[in-house]
Amino acid sequence: MLTNRSQVVVKKEMTFIERMYLPAIFSGMLITFKHLFKKSATIKYPEQTREFSKIYRGQHVLKRDEKGAERCTACGLCAVACPAEAITMIAAERKPGEEALYREEKYAATYEINMLRCIFCGDCEEACPKEAIFLTDRKVDSFYTRKEFIYGKSILVEGLESDKRVDVSVRETKAVEEFKKHKEFAHNETYDKNKKKTVAGH
Ligand code: SF4
Ligand code: SF4
Repeated sequence: MLTNRSQVVVKKEMTFIERMYLPAIFSGMLITFKHLFKKSATIKYPEQTREFSKIYRGQHVLKRDEKGAERCTACGLCAVACPAEAITMIAAERKPGEEALYREEKYAATYEINMLRCIFCGDCEEACPKEAIFLTDRKVDSFYTRKEFIYGKSILVEGLESDKRVDVSVRETKAVEEFKKHKEFAHNETYDKNKKKTVAGH
């Protein structure tokens, strides 16, 4: 015996009523019956859906800057921060003439997130120094094969057109807004969908 917390189990004989199991059955049925008059804890999905939190962490987006260039500089910090090792990338050097495509001299030629590994913790978003990756309120689709859960840049990078930009303003904390007021960090301007222009230092 490793501890002295052991208890002696009393194996007392069941009474005649207990052996009929009827009281236990009725008490179980009573509990079930009571639930008929209570508000249901379940919903009829997919006809009904629950309201998500504003900061629900769903499918990622790789953001572009106000001019449409990809913000990610393939620094790898998101991949290092990821506890699920879900992010992989291959960096490439920006060539002359590609300034409109990529904001920094180095960019992610390949950027993939394995959505089967991802636990949607948001650490990648926290780690990113370029405000390039954010989690959004979008849900990851269902697929039949594992391969389809590897999301590449064609899915992750937001569209160029204003109506295809993904608004992440709800995810930006007061601390981030304060940080952006510094002029030297002007490259961290965000795109404001409503104003259709960049917002920074306001
Ligand atoms: S949300 Fe968390 S688990 Fe998912 S890719 Fe980002 S850091 Fe990794
Ligand atoms: S998303 Fe951010 S942290 Fe990840 S590689 Fe790009 S710039 Fe670095």
